[in-house]
Amino acid sequence: MNKDVMISVRGVKRSFGKLEAVKGISFDIHRGQVVGFIGANGAGKTTTMRMIATLEMPDEGDIYICGSDAVDDPNSVRSKIGWVPDDFGRYQNMTIVEYLDFFARAFDYQDQERKNRIQEVMDFTGLTKLKDRFIDKLSKGQGQRVCLGRALLHDPDVLLMDEPAAGLDPKARMELKNLIRILAEEGKTIFISSHILSELSEICDTMIFLEQGEVLHHGGAEELKRGAREGVSVLVKI
Ligand code: ATP
Repeated sequence: MNKDVMISVRGVKRSFGKLEAVKGISFDIHRGQVVGFIGANGAGKTTTMRMIATLEMPDEGDIYICGSDAVDDPNSVRSKIGWVPDDFGRYQNMTIVEYLDFFARAFDYQDQERKNRIQEVMDFTGLTKLKDRFIDKLSKGQGQRVCLGRALLHDPDVLLMDEPAAGLDPKARMELKNLIRILAEEGKTIFISSHILSELSEICDTMIFLEQGEVLHHGGAEELKRGAREGVSVLVKI
């Protein structure tokens, strides 16, 4: 496999009972690309991303992260992936710094190293001043930056972001976009989902359009925008 292929999805299928959520999709994402994963609600984006993040297993097909087999040996790829979920899970009664410390303990940092890394992540995401604020007191945008910070703790090569801009006000969206740009400039490979094309087209060089569990387009954003205007899919909002 080409060593620049960071995410390789090959013939991946996933069903829930009789529902075929993901119907044998294939695509490659290369080092340093920022790729948008666009599709209507229920298209199968989260299911696909969760499989790439090794949080769910495909029924069929292969997934490789930086050349390592994510299906047969998920532990071999977890350190390479940063997963940015669309919510916090059940950690609302922690402050930001406690929350980051809780997750940083899963990695191989010594005490001082861990503190330094948490500080770096808080500085990068603009959370240092808020570090003692409880998670349940954060705005949606601040919360999203905490999720991003959590995903960056182990400095992964690949970032998977599930609907990161959903529910953000324009300022928070701009801040998030700037952070994504910096991470892309640092060489991270970033895969971001949304059901709104304009949220992705400003930051992504490539788009993968999923409809009802199938990839209908993999290419430039402009081409997809044109298709959406011409009614290729009425489900994608421009
Ligand atoms: P959204 O933007 O609404 O999150 P999505 O494109 O991310 O949509 P998925 O969440 O992957 O889509 O869902 C794809 C389909 O699979 C949907 O019909 C959903 O209801 C179904 N689905 C997802 N997870 C499960 C599950 N754990 N059990 C049953 N059905 C599921």
